[in-house]
Amino acid sequence: MPVIGTRQSPIHLVAEQALPLADPAALMTIRYGARESFTGRFAKLETDHPILAIDDPGRASVRFRDIDWKLLQVHIHTESEHVVGNDDPHDFEIHLVHVPYIAAESERADKKRKDKKGTHAGCAGPNCQTLVYPEAPPKLVIGILYRLLEARESTGETTGGLRQLAAQLSPKPAPAAGKKGKPADAADEDCGHGDHVPPESVNIAPYHFFPMLEPKKADLVNWYHYEGSLTGPPYSEDVSWFVMRDPARISEGTLECLDLFAAQHARELQAIDRRLVVRSFS
Ligand SMILES: [Zn+2]
Repeated sequence: MPVIGTRQSPIHLVAEQALPLADPAALMTIRYGARESFTGRFAKLETDHPILAIDDPGRASVRFRDIDWKLLQVHIHTESEHVVGNDDPHDFEIHLVHVPYIAAESERADKKRKDKKGTHAGCAGPNCQTLVYPEAPPKLVIGILYRLLEARESTGETTGGLRQLAAQLSPKPAPAAGKKGKPADAADEDCGHGDHVPPESVNIAPYHFFPMLEPKKADLVNWYHYEGSLTGPPYSEDVSWFVMRDPARISEGTLECLDLFAAQHARELQAIDRRLVVRSFS
């Protein structure tokens, strides 16, 4: 039976109520590189939420509290969970889920043992596997909010990493998708329907999921941080949250395409209670 306490997520983040940090980089640094990519496969957790499980990256992507964290999985909420400032909820929120680099290794070995026993059943489709986590490691989740582009805006402004992912999910992916760094712009085409099986393996470039600080430079430094929970069962309060201050942009075609493969509903806002929220910006 899950225990739901007073540190639940998501929450409403307001700059005026968050404490600015004097040296945010000493607390947390995001180390995704512009040319870095990861392979992953669609899978389902025990909770039945579809996720993109990342193949062991073999390297850390985040440093937090002097611990290295690596990317474990990525999933999407259509309609954002966190709310930033006085804004309405955004159209889309991506969660990059990280676990401590060392702890994840033993967990992986444990999963392998379980797979041998054939316990990864319960999920339809040839490319589906169920991940079983016997003991939940602490998690660090980076939340990135997205705002839909207006029709008159260029679809070229869609965050490149998402366009690249959506292009790979099309029934006929563009040949260059995920290979040459320049994302294909196929996302606004028909990207398949319910019966379309996603490719066995997809390639993602998390750096290009983030909002832009300036042209060609992602914003990895402006964030809110608080301690909270998973936003789905078992709602365990073992998540260090980092939510990016500014939204990135997504086109309607890209959103619809990603929604088909990774839809998760947004949980309602939870009380902040007596928690401290900090921010990296002044
Ligand atoms: Zn989530």
